[in-house]
Amino acid sequence: MFREDLCNRCGKCLSQCPWMEVDGEEAIGIVKKLIKKEYSSVLKNCITCFACNEICPEQAYPFDLIASLQEKYYTLFPKEKLKAVERRFSSNDDEVAAFNADSILSLCVFKETDPELIKGALYDMPQVSGNPYFCWVLFSHIGGASIQEKHVKRLIQNLARNNPKEVVCFHDDCYTMLSHFAPEYGLDVPFRPVHLAEHLLRRLKPKHHSLKSLNVKIAYQRPCASRYTPEKENFIDELLDLVGAERVDRKYDRENAMCCAGVKKILGMGDPTPHQEENVKDAINAGAQALVCLCPMCMHALSPAAHRNRLPVLFIGDLARMALGEIKVNAFN
Ligand code: SF4
Ligand code: SF4
Repeated sequence: MFREDLCNRCGKCLSQCPWMEVDGEEAIGIVKKLIKKEYSSVLKNCITCFACNEICPEQAYPFDLIASLQEKYYTLFPKEKLKAVERRFSSNDDEVAAFNADSILSLCVFKETDPELIKGALYDMPQVSGNPYFCWVLFSHIGGASIQEKHVKRLIQNLARNNPKEVVCFHDDCYTMLSHFAPEYGLDVPFRPVHLAEHLLRRLKPKHHSLKSLNVKIAYQRPCASRYTPEKENFIDELLDLVGAERVDRKYDRENAMCCAGVKKILGMGDPTPHQEENVKDAINAGAQALVCLCPMCMHALSPAAHRNRLPVLFIGDLARMALGEIKVNAFN
């Protein structure tokens, strides 16, 4: 939620935007216009990477202001297209799973799209997946902020059915929805959202004596949603450390991460390839032997550029499975 009371109108959110050229004075003027809910061309040029939320020194969440105006002026998806996407991900109560478990794994819609990423002992627990568990953060990327908010109460109700104590979130977006957005919307989350990296750590740590140290240098692709939930970054670092994967120090990581740019294609904002090539080359120049992704969407977006440059792309869960011995370690050879 944009915090107008915290915003000092410094303009840094726009003048330091990695995707637009806006100079300092112009940025200040645009921020003032946006606060008055007026139109600006930044609303159609913003690729929704969420970076300005971390750039802002006052934690005012400027992207949330941009997102609300992208919907007001339909600068990304038009109204009818937003409605069509909303219908695509809607569900009815018959589809909600019913079973008793203290801890469940929410797969969002990735069981349908990426089943090969959800194999092995690390995911051996009660699972829920499909439209009733879709987290709706996609709508922050396509100009449908209010649609995102509208459906979250139902998502929480679906997950809370049978009273789990915790919900492990396979996707960074789901974790961000439950740990950041839902409380912002004033919704009670009656279970603990657990990030995938924390879950993987909990499963691997008791086996640390028998884990295979991967002894590999990796570049980490930090997803957009992590801009809202940077507090779990320590789990990522601890997990990489535990499996013997050195996170290389590169230009496009942590607060300076480069969006995978897959959303540019979805929004019809031009060819993302040059940005993806730059991202992959940054990883290679820093000595990485593989690009490790937390978000399956980042994997899909960056794979063509990575393959062209002979850099393997791995899901972070598969790195954990390699350390367990479930997947052969030949990806780095
Ligand atoms: S939202 Fe943050 S970065 Fe943007 S003008 Fe306000 S204080 Fe500055
Ligand atoms: S979300 Fe990304 S592209 Fe949009 S204004 Fe913020 S930093 Fe720029």
